[in-house]
Amino acid sequence: MTIPIFVPHLGCPHRCVFCNQWETSAVRTPPDAKFVREKIRSHLDTKPGSIERIEAAFFGGSFTAIDAALQRELLGAAHDFILDGLVDGIRVSTRPDRVDAGSLDLLREYGVRTIEIGAQSFSDGILAAAGRGHTAADSISASARIRKAGFSLVIQLMPGLPGDSPAESLRSAKAAAGCAPDAVRIYPTVVLDHTRLAEIFRAGAYEPLTLEDALERSADMHELFAEKNIPVIRTGLHPLAPGETAGVLAGPYHPAFGFLVKARLKRRILERELARALERSVSAPSEALLRIPLREKEEYLGHRGENMEYLGALFAPVKIMRIFVNSDRPEIIIENAF
Ligand code: SF4
Repeated sequence: MTIPIFVPHLGCPHRCVFCNQWETSAVRTPPDAKFVREKIRSHLDTKPGSIERIEAAFFGGSFTAIDAALQRELLGAAHDFILDGLVDGIRVSTRPDRVDAGSLDLLREYGVRTIEIGAQSFSDGILAAAGRGHTAADSISASARIRKAGFSLVIQLMPGLPGDSPAESLRSAKAAAGCAPDAVRIYPTVVLDHTRLAEIFRAGAYEPLTLEDALERSADMHELFAEKNIPVIRTGLHPLAPGETAGVLAGPYHPAFGFLVKARLKRRILERELARALERSVSAPSEALLRIPLREKEEYLGHRGENMEYLGALFAPVKIMRIFVNSDRPEIIIENAF
C-alpha cells in the first residue's frame, strides 16, 4: 500500500509548462509534519488487513530541492511510523538535476528506499520545449547515482509533450530502460488549466494526443518495458475527483486509463494469436473460439466488450466466439466451414 502525501510544487525552481500540481491533487496548503502524520494515520486506520508492505510517498514536488530543514521535518514525521513498525519505507519524487550525494545521504538517514525521477523525455529538444530546465544527460546521471547509492529507482515518462512523436516516445522509453530502473510510470500528457501548455493549446500551437493515440503509444511502451522485465507501475493520471476534472482542458485523461491500456495489450495478444491461428488453418475457417483466462476476463473483453467488437470486425466473416477458462493464457480453436 502506498500512502500518497502530496507536496505540490515544493522545491520546484520554476513551473514546467504542463504542470499544475494544485489541479491534480486535492492539497491546497503546503504540508508540514502535522499534515504528514494525519495523512499517514488516516490511511493506516482504513487499511485492509491483508496489506503486507506499506510505503509513505511524497509526490507532486521536487523533494530533494526543498529546503533541507523542511525535508527533515516531513521525512522525520514519516520516519516515526517506520520506527513504530507501522510503515516499511518512504519514497520521494524529484527532479533529475537535483540528485547529489548530500541529498541522497539525507534521504537514507530517514529510511527512504525509493527515488522517483521525473525524466519525462530523453529528448533535449522536448525537455527544452516543456521548460524542464534539465537535459536527458541529467536523467541518466541521476539514475546511475541513485542506483549506485542502493536506492530503488523509478523513472517517470510523459509521452505526448510538445514535439513528441510515436518514434520519439519509444526512443525515450528505450533510453529509460537503459538506465535500468526498478519500475517506470507513464503519464500521457494532458492539458491542465492554469499552465503554460493551456495557453499554447488555446493559441492553437499544441495538439494533444487523442485517447486512442495515448493508448497505442502507452501500449507500445508497455511492450518495450515488458521485454526488458521492467514493471510499469502506473499508466495515466490517478482518477480525479468529480470537482477536479474541470481543470483538465484537453488530452487523453480517462479515470480508468491504466485499465484501458491493459485491455489494449490483451487485445493485441488476441489479435496476434488469432491471425496466426487463422493463417495456419488449412481450409476456410468459419468460426474461432477464444478460450479466455477467467481471472483476466475484463481486460480481455475490454471496456464495454469493445475488444470483441474490434476482433469481430477485423476478422469478419469469421465468427468470433468466447468462453472463459481457468488458464494462464488464451487459446484459440478454429472451426472450419468444410
Ligand atoms: S513537473 Fe515536477 S519540477 Fe516541474 S513544476 Fe511539476 S512538480 Fe515541479
